[in-house]
Amino acid sequence: MYEVSVEKTFAAAHRIVGYPGDCANIHGHTWKVVITIGNDKLNEQGMVVDFRYAKRALDQVLANYDHKYLNEVSPFDKTNPTAENIAYFLYQQLKGFFHDCRLKRVTVWESETSSASFQEG
Ligand SMILES: [Zn+2]
Repeated sequence: MYEVSVEKTFAAAHRIVGYPGDCANIHGHTWKVVITIGNDKLNEQGMVVDFRYAKRALDQVLANYDHKYLNEVSPFDKTNPTAENIAYFLYQQLKGFFHDCRLKRVTVWESETSSASFQEG
């Protein structure tokens, strides 16, 4: 199994509704998102997927959230914008971009030391 990863950052504010502490207050992060794409074999060019294609897909999806207050942007107006939920919903929006390879995992870093991942299976 081959795996490749690309990463991007975006800036956004959020608050964790119902959290018993200061994360319930609005605050911001520079979120880092790492997506990992895999395949058992390589394409004709010897790649899992073109890094540029993967970065464009990630850019396109993150544009919906960059410099936003996540709690006001769907689906986080109804679902708490935790790193776990952000990883899940980014995965759902990104997986359709990859056809001859597979989106394996989305990891969202809220800080340099804290991350959450979602993967199917
Ligand atoms: Zn936070």
